Amino acid sequence: MVDDLPELVHLVRRPSWMHDALCREPGYAALNWHPRPRESAAPAIEVCQRCLVRDECLAFALDNDAHLPVGVYGGLSGKQRRRLRSQRAAARRERDDRGAVVVVLRPGRPTPT
Ligand code: SF4
Repeated sequence: MVDDLPELVHLVRRPSWMHDALCREPGYAALNWHPRPRESAAPAIEVCQRCLVRDECLAFALDNDAHLPVGVYGGLSGKQRRRLRSQRAAARRERDDRGAVVVVLRPGRPTPT
C-alpha cells in the first residue's frame, strides 16, 4: 500500500479533463506520442484533432513546458508548441508596444506616473 502512494498522489493531482483524453483509449496508447527527430508525429496529431479535450491539453502543455518539452500534446509537437509560444509572446509584445503608443498620442490625458 505505501509503495503505491506516489502513483496515487499522481493520479489525484491529474486534472479532471484527462479522464476524457482520447489517447487513453485502448488502441491509441501504442501510437508514437513522443516521436524522435525524423519520426512522424502525424498519426498522434490526427488523433488529437478528434479529441474533446484538445484545448485543455494544449493549454496544459504550454503551461508545463518545462516538464513536457517534447511529445504530442493538444495536437502539436514540441517544436510546434515552441513556435506557437514564440508567436504569442511576439503578439503580446506588439500589443504592449501599441498600448504604450496610444497613451502617448492621446492629448489631454494625464501622463502615467
Ligand atoms: S489532445 Fe491529444 S494528447 Fe491531448 S488528451 Fe487529447 S488525444 Fe491526448
